[in-house]
Order: sequence, then structure tokens, then C-alpha cells
Amino acid sequence: MQTPFADEMTLDLAERLVVEERLGADRAPDILWVGLSAADIVGHAYGPLSQETQDYYVRLDRRLGVFLEFLDRRLGSSNYTIALTSDHGVMPLPEELTRRGVPASRVLTKDYTAALNAATEVARTELGLSKPLFRSSNYMGVYLDLAESTSRGLAPAEVRNRVADKLRSVPFVADAMTADELSASHAPSDRPYLELYRHSFSADRSPDVMLRPKEYALTRWKTCGTSHGTPYRFDTHIPMVFFGAGVPAGLRTERVHTTDLAPTLAGLLGAAPPADVDGVSRFGFQRHRTRPASPRLRP
Ligand SMILES: [Zn+2]
Repeated sequence: MQTPFADEMTLDLAERLVVEERLGADRAPDILWVGLSAADIVGHAYGPLSQETQDYYVRLDRRLGVFLEFLDRRLGSSNYTIALTSDHGVMPLPEELTRRGVPASRVLTKDYTAALNAATEVARTELGLSKPLFRSSNYMGVYLDLAESTSRGLAPAEVRNRVADKLRSVPFVADAMTADELSASHAPSDRPYLELYRHSFSADRSPDVMLRPKEYALTRWKTCGTSHGTPYRFDTHIPMVFFGAGVPAGLRTERVHTTDLAPTLAGLLGAAPPADVDGVSRFGFQRHRTRPASPRLRP
């Protein structure tokens, strides 16, 4: 999976599926999802600015060209539509950023956990509690044990606030947001990135205090490689390409979202997406014109 050859094999399988499952052989549209996921593994291992990642994409581009030629032969070039996108980007290796003069740091998971634990301990002491407040942490933030504070009559929101205040002084932390701030349904806030974190917040699963790391502070358990999962542009900026039947030629410069993908495909198929779906169809709603209606179905 750490090589370009994994996704060459994935596309071999995709071609086989088109043939064996007889995709595109009748009037009902078929959808084939192909996950070219070695991009993620290669990106984690070597970073986006590496020779290895470049090699991966050169080979993927070539193999995708072969796949399109296969679809042209098999289905006809006006009888299919391709959507090509990604679910996230990735941070360059912090060492590579440093080499290029960009302030960046690598925080090993054990140091990350220790720093969050220590900051939470300061809050515990200030609140006069005797048992540890810190329960656990993950890359999203800190989970607290509120049993003692609650039994002493301290409001959970007050305890979370105190902990968040201490976590904000941890060197690799840009902001700390409490569960109360994230679940509050008040008007949209202009606090940076708060709205994005609200979209990622789930009251019964998310940490008591969620953390936004500084822009190029990478938390990882290894001394090499890189990762994703921040709200910054290197993570959230994705390609989105539509190609083939029903797609007008052109380059669009407006902001788009991953959530536009399903409504756009629905629009190209002539199907109205449900009203509560996030995202919009980027080409509006089209009648499906790629195949004429069967004569026997006409009135
Ligand atoms: Zn990944």
C-alpha cells in the first residue's frame, strides 16, 4: 500500500468490475466508487513535497488515462461521467517546512499527552480538587473526570473553562474550546475556526475540551512521516474534477465543499437530492440526456 502499484491494481479491479457486473449495459445508471487510497499511505509516509509522492501521482495519472481509454472503448465517451476528488489534504513534513524557513514543529504523542496532563493538573490544583481531572486525551482534545468536582458542587462548565484556560498556554495549542462553547446554539461566532469545530462536535463522543493545534504543529507517535486532521488549508484544500457526460467545460474558482459531490452527481443524473443534504449541485439540475428513453416506454 505504500507504493503507486497498489492503486494500479485497484484500477485493474475497477475495470474487471465494469465488465463482470455489466456496468453501463442497460438504461439504469450505475455508480462505481473507486478509492485510490495509497495516496493517503504514501502521503503519511513521505509527505506531499517528496519525490515518492510525485512518483505516485505521475503513475496514477498515467493509469487513470488508461482507465479512461478503457471506459471510452467499453461504454462510449458520451456515456459516462467521472468525479475525481479527495477527502482531505496533508501537512508537509515539519522538518521540510523548517528547512524552507516556515515555523513548524513535531510533537511526539507521549509529549503531547504529558503537556495536556500537566496543564490539566494546574487547573485541578487551582480548583482545590484532590483526584486527577485528566481522564484521557486524543488528537481532538482532553476528556475529564468530573465526578469529584460535581460532588463538590462545581458546575461542569466552570471546570471545563478553567482547564481550557490552562490548555491555551501549552506551546503547540492555538485554541481550546469547551464542550459548552461547541454545543451552544447561539449565533455564529467569528472566533477563528469555532464553526468548523462545531461541525465536528458530538456531545456524547467528543472531548470535554477540544484543541486546535497551531498551524504547523504536527502531533504524531512517530519521529517520521506526517498526518492530517487540522482545520487549516493544507488539510482542507481538495481537488474536485468533473469530467464527461453532462459536464460543461471550464475552470471554476468559487469555493466548493466535499459535501457538494453527492448533490452534483445527483443533479447530473437528473435526481433531486433530499432537501436536508449539505452542499449544492455545482451544475444545477439536469434531465438525464445521455441515453434516449426506450421507445416502448413512450406514451
Ligand atoms: Zn490518512
